[in-house]
Amino acid sequence: MTIRFERELLLLRTLASGAQLHVPIFRFIGDSNGKNVYIQANIHGPEIAGIGAAHRLIDLLQQESAIHGTITVVPSINPVGLDLKMNGMQVGYVDPNESVVGNFNRVYQLLVTDKTPTDPEEVQKVGIENFVAAYSHSDIQTIVHDFHAALKEALADLRAKRGREGLRFGLKLAITIQELAADAHYIIDLHTAGIAQYHVFAFEENLDAIPYFGIPAVIQLPDDFVGVFDEAMLLPWIRLRKAFQKAGREIPFSAFEREAFTLELGSADSIDRVMMDEDAERILNYLRHKGILDGSAQPVEMAYYKCLQRNYARYNAPTGGLVLWNKQPGERVRAGETLCTILCAYNRGTDEPTEMPVVAVEDGIVNNLVESQVVHEGMALCSVMTRVEDLKF
Ligand SMILES: [Zn+2]
Repeated sequence: MTIRFERELLLLRTLASGAQLHVPIFRFIGDSNGKNVYIQANIHGPEIAGIGAAHRLIDLLQQESAIHGTITVVPSINPVGLDLKMNGMQVGYVDPNESVVGNFNRVYQLLVTDKTPTDPEEVQKVGIENFVAAYSHSDIQTIVHDFHAALKEALADLRAKRGREGLRFGLKLAITIQELAADAHYIIDLHTAGIAQYHVFAFEENLDAIPYFGIPAVIQLPDDFVGVFDEAMLLPWIRLRKAFQKAGREIPFSAFEREAFTLELGSADSIDRVMMDEDAERILNYLRHKGILDGSAQPVEMAYYKCLQRNYARYNAPTGGLVLWNKQPGERVRAGETLCTILCAYNRGTDEPTEMPVVAVEDGIVNNLVESQVVHEGMALCSVMTRVEDLKF
């Protein structure tokens, strides 16, 4: 079969000087009756491991003799984030020039609501209750086809209405990404997290695919929306299924053929040739598992475990100072054990302590640490997976 390989340059932003920021988008177009995959990396500027993985993935895909569907790979989706440096450091988790400064991965838009809006001035999101009522007796193919079409219409309406007075950059980027991924059945968003062990954010509905990535630590997402990419893309389908269920019709989630994963490929601001290859291979294995590529996929044997996102404990600094770590990513911690000690050297010669331990509230597994060992009170320190359960496949 012939596979078409395309490179598109998407103009994302024009700067004050007239310099234009483009995003290279790579597409492998195979069988027209296959599934669509969207893979992106580097929405957060410091998170570069995914660029390496995507780069190698493109090499590997070019060696494939068949692709069943279309694979879109965007190794670096956010040039504003990648190029944002201060004093030599990577800082592009947000655009500091926005009037609403916020995390680039909290800006995505949920395109469904309970009831179809009656005010035509409002963004016409898809009313799930109305949709279910209208499609209560339809076959699955029609439901999937029309719901997908309705989501795309809602997205177009959102761009038109929210963009009437001009889109702030973070929102423009989020909407652009949702447009790029709108036809995707399977979505992979590549991130990293401070100083971290490998881990995955996934919905319960998609856990079966986890062993094909070979990443043992899983944080299971709830059915609520905080503006994250995989939530924006998958929650409409999860809520659709639940609404059908409430109306008395059981549809297995797999019938929708929709999956989305946030893979956290270790630590930020680091790239490694061996890991680039391994990370590309784990994505390739998943694509084989989904039948996008030929060949048999191998589930990776290891001890998988998960925690619910509500049990994913994020510790913040109780005071300002310097962080001395007692635990490292991947280590188990018991309630009462010290995660780290904040060195408050400024307290010498006073009655205040010069060291303040930060103690684990619950048992768990340390997932990631903040990169800098200098913290102000209230800054993020580390995340710990708690109430960890084994995941069996
Ligand atoms: Zn990230």
